[in-house]
Amino acid sequence: MTVPIIFAVGGAALLLFFFWLAWGVRQDFETLVRMPCPACSRPFGKEAAMAARRLFQEEIAEWRQKNPSTRLRIVGRWPIQCPACGFKGHYHVQDRRLLSDGQ
Ligand SMILES: [Zn+2]
Repeated sequence: MTVPIIFAVGGAALLLFFFWLAWGVRQDFETLVRMPCPACSRPFGKEAAMAARRLFQEEIAEWRQKNPSTRLRIVGRWPIQCPACGFKGHYHVQDRRLLSDGQ
């Protein structure tokens, strides 16, 4: 009797987790679109944010291919490049901070 309840609760928790994950990615994307470049103070914009998200997803896919037996631990670092001045850095998802690659 308790087993189906555990499955139901577990399933609901898993679903919630994925919603939370998708929502988080969306929030990070919006944050990055509006975030000003530390070098020229212009916002990165939609295209640079999209490229950053895509690069990050490619990095994960590549990492998974190289380490198929290892469990994925997502370290959220989106490589971002400013379209206006060419500044390069990484957006850190965990603390919503932007760090220059030179730092
Ligand atoms: Zn810039």
